[in-house]
Amino acid sequence: MSISENCLRKYAELIVRTGANVRPGQVVLLTIGVEQHEFAALLMEECYKAGAKKVNVDWTYDVQKRLNYLYAGKDVLSEVLPWEEAKLKQMVEDLPCRIFIVSDDPDALSGVDPEKLSGVMQARGKVMKPYRNAIEGKHQWVIAAYPSEKWAKKCFPDDENAVDKLWDAILKTVRVTEDNDPVEEWKKHTEFIETKAAWLNEQAFSCLHYKSENGTDFSVTLIPEARWEGARDVNSRNGAAYIPNMPTEEIFTSPIAGKCEGTLVAVKPLSWNSQLIEDFSITFENGRAVSCKAAKGQKLLEKMIKMDEGAAMLGEVALVPKESPVNQCGFLFYETLFDENACCHCALGMGFKEVLPGGDDMTMEQAQGHGINDSIIHVDFMVGADDLSIDGIRPDGTIVPVFRNGTWA
Ligand code: ZN
Repeated sequence: MSISENCLRKYAELIVRTGANVRPGQVVLLTIGVEQHEFAALLMEECYKAGAKKVNVDWTYDVQKRLNYLYAGKDVLSEVLPWEEAKLKQMVEDLPCRIFIVSDDPDALSGVDPEKLSGVMQARGKVMKPYRNAIEGKHQWVIAAYPSEKWAKKCFPDDENAVDKLWDAILKTVRVTEDNDPVEEWKKHTEFIETKAAWLNEQAFSCLHYKSENGTDFSVTLIPEARWEGARDVNSRNGAAYIPNMPTEEIFTSPIAGKCEGTLVAVKPLSWNSQLIEDFSITFENGRAVSCKAAKGQKLLEKMIKMDEGAAMLGEVALVPKESPVNQCGFLFYETLFDENACCHCALGMGFKEVLPGGDDMTMEQAQGHGINDSIIHVDFMVGADDLSIDGIRPDGTIVPVFRNGTWA
């Protein structure tokens, strides 16, 4: 059995209405794989029904990306051409509502030289960063997924029902069933996350300490004025609330860049730039990753933490209980959108200035002054072991259990 017309329609509507919350008169920029053109049409229609002024589509094709990386030169790929930059300028002007549909083959870039990959990303990232900073906090966006054949086969090798299985899992995690009202489900879910975030904000922890049998022993200092957030975000320009990630289970904040110590052991493989890093740990001293060990992808991991100044520092800590529906699916999605919502994680690289009061209107430099990390990368990795304990330490030294055995204490 494959996905029904009814569920597909509900899912598209959920992405547009609850996720992106497209407002009348807005421009929408939809980024989606060419193979998902039928779903693109469905989404476009929902956007127009929601009152979109214009829907533009950026078509992606992971095979094109692969072939370019294999055959074109590093310098050629590194260049951001004038027309590409013009598009970015237009985006800053339009502040479009952005919808990203992920469906890439997790192995699309396997075999591509990591040096080339990180070099190109670095060069392009530098040019694109100011535009990204300029729209940050000023537009609505959502990332959701659509299972491609290759992605499904990666999750369920040798299974002829792989796509259906991945569909089932995706729909479960985004709370769409044949006869429910997903919009209502998301309201309840959002409220739960916001209640937990409010509790964390009340506690005003100055520090978190992580401990687990697998070797994780780590403490991180939080920014006193930074807030814990989850589920919803608000476009500061028009006040529209949107849900950037579907699914989402996390409550997150940005710690002080350069203030953490100890070792974090990953509990799930990490897919970065369509390549895999497995069985790895990262050790921090004075807030910076000083060493890392990976059974697979060692070179890639080393490259990652050297992408720029901020790549070796943390930009995010996020709490996700192990009961998360993503975790309950019981398999690795090879896609951060899902895997980061399976259990607790941290991210190397760029932090979120919006967790600061008034952060949306700050420049990245101002946010950095408050301790937010800056980088061209933001890479989440999972540390939520089944036995993970997290203690919150209040400024007066009181210790409060936050997580025990991988879930809320
Ligand atoms: Zn996260």
